Amino acid sequence: MNKYQYQDFLNSSEWIKLRNIYKNDSNTSCWICGSKDEINLHHFIYQKKLLLDPTNIVSLCAKHHYLLHFISGKKKIHRNFRSLKGLRERLKNLAGIKT
Ligand SMILES: [Zn+2]
Ligand SMILES: [Zn+2]
Repeated sequence: MNKYQYQDFLNSSEWIKLRNIYKNDSNTSCWICGSKDEINLHHFIYQKKLLLDPTNIVSLCAKHHYLLHFISGKKKIHRNFRSLKGLRERLKNLAGIKT
């Protein structure tokens, strides 16, 4: 999926509906620091069939969303879900949050 297709997806009614569920849920908080400010939704895997799958979506504050993209770069470091725990610990360490 290229960035144009992803952009189309982000404008789709299915996504907007799901995004609003997260937005309106008072429990939605950053996966790394628990903040509820400036929440972004991140997809671990950019695959069409997984884009509406809640296990492929994580909420992050703007700062930690940036951090995740910064450390992942162009490499698909979280191609599978098994590495998610390690990824979260690594991000927490980088953010200076004790695990
Ligand atoms: Zn955060
Ligand atoms: Zn993201």
